[in-house]
Amino acid sequence: MRKSTLVPVLALLGSLALTTSCSTDTSSIDSAPAKTGSTPTGGTAEGTDPGGSVNPAKIKGIRIVSDNSDDRSCPWASSYPDVPGASGMTAAMKKYVATRIAGFRGDDGGSAVTCGADSTGASPNGAELNISYSFLVASGDVVGVRLTTLNRPAAGDGLDTRTYWYDGKNGTAESAYALIADGSQDAFVAALQKQLKGKEGADPASLDDTENRTASLDDMAFTADGGLRVDFDRGTVGVPAGGRYTVTFPKATVTPWLSDFGKRVQQQTASPSAGLDLGATSTPSATMPTQTADGDDTTNCAEVKCIALTFDDGPAAPYTATLLTYLAKYDARVTFFTVGQNVAAHPELVRAEVRAGHEVGNHSWNHPDLTRLATGEIRSQLERTSAAIKAATGKEPTLFRPPYGAINGKVRSATTLSPVLWDVDTEDWKYPNASRVAQYVISKAGRNDVVLLHDIHPTSVGAVPEILRTLSARGYHFVTVSHLRATL
Ligand code: ZN
Repeated sequence: MRKSTLVPVLALLGSLALTTSCSTDTSSIDSAPAKTGSTPTGGTAEGTDPGGSVNPAKIKGIRIVSDNSDDRSCPWASSYPDVPGASGMTAAMKKYVATRIAGFRGDDGGSAVTCGADSTGASPNGAELNISYSFLVASGDVVGVRLTTLNRPAAGDGLDTRTYWYDGKNGTAESAYALIADGSQDAFVAALQKQLKGKEGADPASLDDTENRTASLDDMAFTADGGLRVDFDRGTVGVPAGGRYTVTFPKATVTPWLSDFGKRVQQQTASPSAGLDLGATSTPSATMPTQTADGDDTTNCAEVKCIALTFDDGPAAPYTATLLTYLAKYDARVTFFTVGQNVAAHPELVRAEVRAGHEVGNHSWNHPDLTRLATGEIRSQLERTSAAIKAATGKEPTLFRPPYGAINGKVRSATTLSPVLWDVDTEDWKYPNASRVAQYVISKAGRNDVVLLHDIHPTSVGAVPEILRTLSARGYHFVTVSHLRATL
C-alpha cells in the first residue's frame, strides 16, 4: 500500500513546500494538539495532513486541465482536476482559475501586474502566477481538492489556498463551510475565535460577520485521524503582518459540529473506501497505439535531416493519446517534457509515450520559475518529478527543460539532469490555431532544430499531422532530443 501511495504523498509535499516556504512567519499559529506518539516536528505529511493517501491516477476518467504561458515576460501556470461526475466542482475551480489568470494578465482591466518583458526578457517586478492542485479525498461519494495559488509579487504573501468539495450523494458542489452543520456554525466559529484570540495580529471578531464566513473559511480539510484543520490566508482573520493562521480541532471536538456531508468526508478521509463512486459514467479513454518501438532508432542525424519536436506541460487527457496516434503513423519520435503533477494523474499516458519509443523529460512538478526558488526547492521540484516518471515508466529521465526557459547557475548546479531549451518557439499557447501552429513550424524549423510545442492544447496536437506530412515529404526525420544529440 505504501508503494502505491508514493506519488500522491509526493504531490502533497509539493503543495506543502509552497505553503511552508511562505508561512515561516513566527506569528503564524498552529493550535493542533500534539498527536500521541508522534514527533512534534517533521514526518507529519502523512500523519496529520490531509490528502496523503489519494492517488489521482486511480480516479476513473480524471483529466487534469492545464494552461501555461511558458513565457518569461508573463509567467503563469495553472492546473486543476476535472473529475467525471463532479462537474459543479470542476466549474467552480475553472471559474476561479480563469479569474486569477485574467487578473494576472490584466485582461480584466484591473490594476494587476501588467505583463511585458523588461530588459532581461523577464516580467516586470518578477511577477509570476502559479496555481496547482492536490487531492484531499476522492473516495466513496465525496471529493475534495485544494488549489494553491502563488502570486508574486502581490499584496501579503501572495499565497492563497482554498478547498473545493463535491457531494456525490446530493450531486452538489460544496464550499468548505458546508462541512459544518447549519445549526453548529455559531458554536464552531466561537471555538475558532477562541483559538485565534490572543495570537499576535489576529482579529477573531472578523468572523462575527456571517456574510464573510464562507469566504474566510474557504480552506478546511480533515486530518488522517479525523481532526479538522482550518487554514486562513494572510490578512483574512488578522493584520497581513500576522501571516497565515492554522487551527486544528481534534476529532472528538469537531465531530458534533459536522454536517452529514462533513461526516462522510471525515470518514472517507480517515478510511478511504476502495474507490470513488459518483454514479458517473466515465469517459472512454482514447485508444493508444501499440507500436512496438523500443527506442532503437537508427536514424543518423549526421547523414539525414533531423528535427526534434518537443511537447511540454503534459501529459494531458485526451490530447496526448491522440498525439501518440499521429506520431505512430509517421514513425516520428519526439520528446515530452512532462510536469510531475500531471504524470501523477496520468501515468498510463507517460507509459504509452515510452512504449512508443519517445523520450520523456522532466519539466518540474508544478511549473514554477526555478530561478526564483531556493536550491532545495529546485531539487525537490525536479527529483519529485523524476520519481513520478520512474514510477510510471521504470525509467529515470536524463533531460529537463526549465519552465519558461528560465535557467541560471543555481538551477544548473542543483541537478544532474541535462537542460534542454529550444530553437523554434511556436508560441502555440498564445495562438490556439492549428493551421497557424503548423505553418509556423513548417516555415521556421530547419535541420537539427529543437521545436517547442505543448500537448495540453488540442490545437497544437491538431497541427501535428500537417507538420509531419509536410516536413517528412521534405526529407526530415523526427527524432528525440537525446537521439539528436547522440548522433550529431
Ligand atoms: Zn512549460
